[in-house]
Amino acid sequence: MKRQPLEPVLEEIERRHLRRRRATVDTCPEPGNRTGVIVDGHRVVDFSSNDYLGLAAHPALATAMAQCARRCGAGSGASHLISGHGREHAALEEELAAFTGRNRALLFSTGYMANLGVVTALASRGESVLLDRLSHASLIDAGLLSGARFRRYPHCDTAVARRLLAEGTPQTTVLATDGVFSMDGDIAPLEALAEAARAHGAWLAVDDAHGIGVLGANGRGAVELAGLGTEEVPVLIGTLGKAFGSFGAFVAGSAPLIEFLIQRARSYIYTTALPQPVAAATRAALRIAQSEPWRRERALALTARFRAAARQAGIPLSESATPIQPVPLGSARAALAAQQALLQAGFWVVAIRSPTVPAGEERLRITLTAGHEEHQVDALVERLSRICASS
Ligand SMILES: *Cc1c(COP(=O)(O)O)cnc(C)c1O
Repeated sequence: MKRQPLEPVLEEIERRHLRRRRATVDTCPEPGNRTGVIVDGHRVVDFSSNDYLGLAAHPALATAMAQCARRCGAGSGASHLISGHGREHAALEEELAAFTGRNRALLFSTGYMANLGVVTALASRGESVLLDRLSHASLIDAGLLSGARFRRYPHCDTAVARRLLAEGTPQTTVLATDGVFSMDGDIAPLEALAEAARAHGAWLAVDDAHGIGVLGANGRGAVELAGLGTEEVPVLIGTLGKAFGSFGAFVAGSAPLIEFLIQRARSYIYTTALPQPVAAATRAALRIAQSEPWRRERALALTARFRAAARQAGIPLSESATPIQPVPLGSARAALAAQQALLQAGFWVVAIRSPTVPAGEERLRITLTAGHEEHQVDALVERLSRICASS
């Protein structure tokens, strides 16, 4: 087939209110806070970031990064297996293993690449990969890329997951799920999934991009909240660009698992190592996250405040008890209009549309962070209630 012109495709996307546009965001952080930003000339409060602990603009991270850059330079120069694996990477991996209570941890450049690497290394043709229907796009892509048969169960439906596991042909090698679902904020039924995966000899891989640093008595995430260890969740994936305010990702697990990934995870092997200054910043973030538990407590307290006020104001909410608070609006047009009205009123909240969420389930995705103020949350709810009343 000859190449097709793209303009009609773009026009169709626009007509359906599904065109994505990037806002250029000027950050004007007060020390330790990036919730105040300028979007298209509007000074707004950012209620869209994943900076749950308010660490992205923390001076300690910037200082660690700058000092490391002066010492080691900006670039790592090569992949981890050639000459790019530095002292900061090694130290961060040890600290992440200790933090998660696993034997070892392995740094990846991004969460997307960690998921690709893990799933393609552990599952192959002739086997099966099993995912929650609302899994993150990177897990879906990983399942497709693995060449294994790729199956999905209805959201959080452990009965169907168990049935598919029991089928046995092809054998399910990897059962993967988000810990906290990125667009819904609800938490996967990890205990039941762990039990089912173990009973049928599958690897359970939990991508806790939005739980790590936030949930659990020590901020170790959804897996800690569920009281599960390495036995139950052998593959734990965490990202470093969300609660930890930095960049990158890791996989934590047993020593043989990590050693195997070093041999086989192609998205680990065939790419340049993360810059060491980024690892240095993440080390600073990890120290602060552990020594200042008030950050995650505050993010969760503001979440509770938001929910109570929203309920009072008649704003539709979902079941989420995490700082991800979707407000369902039912159509791309309504979600976009709400985004625009909030921008005018001084809030940056982004409309989430198809195909990120199913068509008809468009929503605003509000996130609460330790950097927000109570009065900002109250003002957001007040403005939202007017939008919901008029839509
Ligand atoms: C953000 C996210 C990722 C990707 O992580 P990056 O480091 O941003 O590539 C993976 N999984 C989930 C559930 C996420 O929310």
